[in-house]
Amino acid sequence: MSLKKYREKRNFNKTKEPRGDKKTGEDRLYVIQKHQASHLHYDLRLEMEGVLRSWAVPKMPPTEPGIRRLAVEVEDHPLEYANFEGAIPEGEYGAGTVEIWDKGNYALLERKEGKLMIDIKGQKLKGIYYLVRFKERKNWLFFKKKRAEPTIGLNK
Ligand code: MN
Repeated sequence: MSLKKYREKRNFNKTKEPRGDKKTGEDRLYVIQKHQASHLHYDLRLEMEGVLRSWAVPKMPPTEPGIRRLAVEVEDHPLEYANFEGAIPEGEYGAGTVEIWDKGNYALLERKEGKLMIDIKGQKLKGIYYLVRFKERKNWLFFKKKRAEPTIGLNK
């Protein structure tokens, strides 16, 4: 959707409203919330099309290459959820405590059916990650890209 009309009506030197300069693939919201529910898990959320696409990761998300984590796709959450921390009352869905474990931005580098390549700019997670879906399932694999092998010193 174009923001042309929205911008025409406003003088951004005078109003503090956002101009909406965010472009696809740049600086989208990224957050992981540690959710101590009946089972501890980590909720990975990525801003896409105005919502937070979400995955529940049963084990601690990998900060280094070589570790693959299951990430179970769950329902989209509103963008504001990225700031949520606190207690969900007993008897309610997801009852327990939610705390922000990592937060920042990400760039969408590649998007295909069942495959995402993203550049995460968080505090704990930094670098290029993949989300790859299992065939026709809600299950994905979440892992960090391997570093390129160093090539220096081979020609001596
Ligand atoms: Mn959760």
